[in-house]
Amino acid sequence: MIISMRPGATKREVEHVTERIREFGFRVHSIEGEERVVIGVVGVGGDVEACLESLEATPGVEKAVRISAPYKFVSREFRKERTTIRVGAAEIGGDEFVTMAGPCSVESEQQIMETAEAVAAAGAKLLRGGAFKPRTSPYDFQGMEEAGLKLLAKAREATGLAVITEVMSDRDVDLVADYADVMQIGARNMQNFALLKALGRCGRPVLLKRGLSSTIKELLMSAEYVVAHGNSQVMLCERGIRTFETATRNTCDITAVPVLNEMTHLPVIVDPSHATGKRSLVPALAKAAVAIGADGMIVEVHPCPEKAVSDGAQSLTIQGFRDMMRDLSGYIELWKKERLAEMVAV
Ligand code: PEP
Ligand code: MN
Repeated sequence: MIISMRPGATKREVEHVTERIREFGFRVHSIEGEERVVIGVVGVGGDVEACLESLEATPGVEKAVRISAPYKFVSREFRKERTTIRVGAAEIGGDEFVTMAGPCSVESEQQIMETAEAVAAAGAKLLRGGAFKPRTSPYDFQGMEEAGLKLLAKAREATGLAVITEVMSDRDVDLVADYADVMQIGARNMQNFALLKALGRCGRPVLLKRGLSSTIKELLMSAEYVVAHGNSQVMLCERGIRTFETATRNTCDITAVPVLNEMTHLPVIVDPSHATGKRSLVPALAKAAVAIGADGMIVEVHPCPEKAVSDGAQSLTIQGFRDMMRDLSGYIELWKKERLAEMVAV
């Protein structure tokens, strides 16, 4: 159950509603939005119908809705319209297909600056680059950490691109939030619940990547953690899942995009780089992402992939990225027409 209070409902009214919910045997999870307080009612055992009926008649309540899914705030039942997330010059979830591009890891000033200038000129709106790297081997490059974050900020200054970068630990949330415009949660951390809770209060939008072997429902439950802890600016990312197939690094569950569009109002981004692990396959997957109605993509680009310290095999060259963006432009125009038609219909 979700209870939307009227805009301007008093503190006393909110408290009264909370008391009533508890009297019915449920627990309360409330979020104070800019306009209104929204109360999530959780727990089992109480009489849902009686509680709904009573709350609808309680002063200050605008709407009480029953939501059957275990993920409540992120469900389509809770919110029919898409969530839009403004980041720098981009609006994710709105009427533009947003491209985020850059190297897997920030390696040097020269590398990040050159990449940033090039991807900005080719149409990217966000610059990606890892400063904290989740590596399978402890002997591999672990990232430049704060020095890398500083370089990302410098590249933002020079190009106007917004910055998306990964945060791996709840202890680093404040530090990363000082530099990043979007906090990326990597696949390996999708169920790091301490981190998800800390992101609820970070004041920055979050891109949550689907775990290596996670179901769509688990992805939504993780997003629910961030939203339930106070941050509704969450986008989801399909980056391929682990299957029996070995021809590609992962198997891109492209079906997850329309499935998520039915289940949630949150924007959905596709990562064709980690989904395939192979440079030659990235443009085809990017086309699929546009065609299937994703809200954007996040792509790895490196000025010299053979020298990349991580994920060189799946990184596009700068020219490869330019070519891909050029080839995608017709698809993106169609995407835009469809999105605008949908917005008119709503
Ligand atoms: C990355 O974006 O470089 C990365 C580590 O991605 P993922 O968490 O999807 O593996
Ligand atoms: Mn990578």
